[in-house]
Amino acid sequence: MGCSLAYHLAVRGRKPLLLERGRLGGGSTGRCAGGVRQQFSTAINIRLGQRAIELLQQFEATTGTDPQYQPIGYLLLATASAQAEALARDVALQRHLQVPVEVLGAAEVSQLVPGLLTEDVISASLCASDGLAGPNEVTTGYAGAARRHGAKVEEGIDVTGIDLNGERVVGVRTNRGPVSTPEVVICAGPQSRQVGAMASIKVPVDPLKRHVLLIEPFAGQPIRSPMTIDLATGFYFHPEGDGLLMGMGDPAQPIGEDFTVDWDFLPKVVEEGSRRLPALAQAALRTVWAGLYEMTPDRQPLVGGAPDRPGVWLACGFSGHGFMMAPPVGESLAAVICGKSPQVDLGPFSPLRFVSGILAPESVFI
Ligand SMILES: Cc1cc2nc3c(=O)[nH]c(=O)nc-3n(C[C@H](O)[C@H](O)[C@H](O)COP(=O)(O)OP(=O)(O)OC[C@H]3O[C@@H](n4cnc5c(N)ncnc54)[C@H](O)[C@@H]3O)c2cc1C
Repeated sequence: MGCSLAYHLAVRGRKPLLLERGRLGGGSTGRCAGGVRQQFSTAINIRLGQRAIELLQQFEATTGTDPQYQPIGYLLLATASAQAEALARDVALQRHLQVPVEVLGAAEVSQLVPGLLTEDVISASLCASDGLAGPNEVTTGYAGAARRHGAKVEEGIDVTGIDLNGERVVGVRTNRGPVSTPEVVICAGPQSRQVGAMASIKVPVDPLKRHVLLIEPFAGQPIRSPMTIDLATGFYFHPEGDGLLMGMGDPAQPIGEDFTVDWDFLPKVVEEGSRRLPALAQAALRTVWAGLYEMTPDRQPLVGGAPDRPGVWLACGFSGHGFMMAPPVGESLAAVICGKSPQVDLGPFSPLRFVSGILAPESVFI
C-alpha cells in the first residue's frame, strides 16, 4: 500500500517519503496469496477489483515491471441454499457493474476442475479475469517507479512518534531522527493501530493470523484450475508452480500478532481440503508459513482523513484484500490527497463510519 501510494503521489508531482521499518514487502504483503478478484458483495469492492485488474494490465507500461498477472479465474462454490442465494445476489450486482461472471452448475464445475468433489455443489460463480499477481513484483515495481518519479523510499527506518500542534500533524519521529511534514498517511498494515496511537487516534485494526500451505506435485492434481474457494469452509487452492497453494481460516484463531505455525491446525486444512479435492489426501507439504490479516470490525478498509486530525490520512485495515486493493486505493487516495477526483469513490471506507454508524460490511470474505 505504501509503495502504491508513494508511486501515485509521485506521478502527481508530490515528493513523498515512504518510511519502512524493515524491508519492503516484509509485512503482510510478502506473506499473501497474491489473489486478485472482482467477485465481492459490495459495489465499492467490485469497482476496486475491476480497477485493480486494469492497473495490473497497464502495470508493465507504467512502472517497467511485469506484475505477473495471471487471469486464472476465481471459482466460488456454494453448497448450502443460503450461500447459493447470496451468490446469486452478488452475481446480479457484479453483472450490473459489468463484471463478466458466469454461473455454473455442479457438472460444469467438475469439467473445469477435474478431481474436485462436486456432488454437494448447488451453484458456483466464475470470473475468468480474476486471478493472481506477484506480491514481490508489484511491491518492487511500484517502489522503483516511485523513486524514478521523485519519491524517497527508505528501509530500516522505524516510525516511533507523530508530532501534533494541537490537532494538526507537524512531523514524525523515527529511530534516525525527526521529519517535519504537514501530512502523514498511516499505512502500517497490521501495526496501524499502534502507529495511529502515536497521534492519539483510535485505529480499529487488529492482526489475525492466517496460514498458507504449499503442496508438492501429487497424483490427480488439477494442473489447470482457477483459484477455487469452498464458501462453506473458506478452504481455497490454486496451482502454484508445479504444485498447489492452499489455505483456510481458523474460526477459533484469536486476534494477535503471532507468526508461529499452528501445526495442530494444519491437519484440519488437509481434512477439509481432501473432502473437496480427494487426491490431496496423498499429497506432501512443501512448506507452510503464517501471516497477518489486518481486520476491521466490518471487514472493510479504513481509507481517508483521520477523525479530528487534519493532515493525517489512513490507508489500512484491508481485512485480507490489501494486496489487490493497493493499486486502485493508492491511485484514488493519491487523487484525494492532491484535491482531485478519485477514480473510485472511497467514501464507504471513510474512517468516520464508526462514528456515523453507516457500515456496509463485505460478506465474501475468505
Ligand atoms: C496468508 C495471507 C494471505 C493473503 N492473501 C491475499 C490475497 O490473496 N489477496 C489480497 O488482496 N490480499 C491478501 N492478503 C492480505 C494482504 O496481504 C494485506 O491486506 C496487504 O498485504 C496489506 O498491505 P499493507 O501495505 O497495508 O500492509 P503490509 O504489507 O503489512 O505493510 C505495512 C508495512 O508497515 C511497516 N511498519 C509497521 N509499523 C511501522 C513503523 N512504526 N514504522 C515504519 N514501518 C512500519 C511494516 O514493516 C510493513 O512492511 C493475505 C494476507 C495473508 C496473511
